[in-house]
Amino acid sequence: MHSTALVLFSGGQDSTTCLAHALARYQRVETVGFDYGQRHDVELRQRLVVLDAVRERFPRWGARLGQDHMLDLSVLGQVSETSLTRDMAFEMERTGLPNTFVPGRNLMFLTLAGALAYRRGLEVLVTGVCETDYSGYPDCRDDTMKAMQLALSLGMDRRLVVETPLMWIDKAQTWQMAHELGGQPLVDLILEDTHTCYLGDRIHRHAWGYGCGACPACELRARGYERYAASV
Ligand code: ZN
Repeated sequence: MHSTALVLFSGGQDSTTCLAHALARYQRVETVGFDYGQRHDVELRQRLVVLDAVRERFPRWGARLGQDHMLDLSVLGQVSETSLTRDMAFEMERTGLPNTFVPGRNLMFLTLAGALAYRRGLEVLVTGVCETDYSGYPDCRDDTMKAMQLALSLGMDRRLVVETPLMWIDKAQTWQMAHELGGQPLVDLILEDTHTCYLGDRIHRHAWGYGCGACPACELRARGYERYAASV
C-alpha cells in the first residue's frame, strides 16, 4: 500500500479536490506547481492561499501536508503560442482543439513531477486531469496517463503510480467529491479561494466563486456548480 504522494497543484478547483483526496488517503503529501508564464499570476498566488487555508482549517490534513515545490517552466512559452501564455483571444483551432491547448504540457508536467517524486521519495503522482468535460485535451486522456505511468516507471526503474481521481467524473461530481472529503468547509474553501478563470478575474464573485463569468473555464465551473447546487 502506498503512503506518500505528490499532487500536481495549480490552485484551481480540480487540483484542490485532488489535494484533499490525497490528504485523506496518504500519510505524507507534497505539492508541485508550474510557472509557465501564465497570462496572470493570480493562479500562482491563489495556490498559496489555498495551501494556507487547508493547513489552518483542516489541522489533521495540515499535519500530513509537506513541502510545496514551484518549478519554472517558462520554456513552454518558447515552444508554443497559446492564449494561456500570450495575449490572444480564445478560439477553436482547425484541429478542433481550443487555442488554450499547449501541446505536450501535461507530458512535461508529469515528467518533471516524476523526477521530483523520485528525489523526494514519493510513490504516487496525483493529477486532476479528466476526460469527461475537459475541452478534449489529448494529454488529459486516460490512455495518455497510463502510457506516462509506464514510461516514467520504466525510465526511472522505480514503480510510480499516476492517480487521476477525476478522470471519469464531471464538474458537478467534482464538487460532490469535495463535499464527501471535507464537507461544507472544503466546498466553501474551494468556492472562495481556488482560481479557475482564464482572465485572472478576482473581482466578480458569483455563487460558484470568482471569475469573469464568460471564458470557457468560468463557464465550465459555473455550469458544474449549478448542477451540483441543484442536486443537494
Ligand atoms: Zn473567466
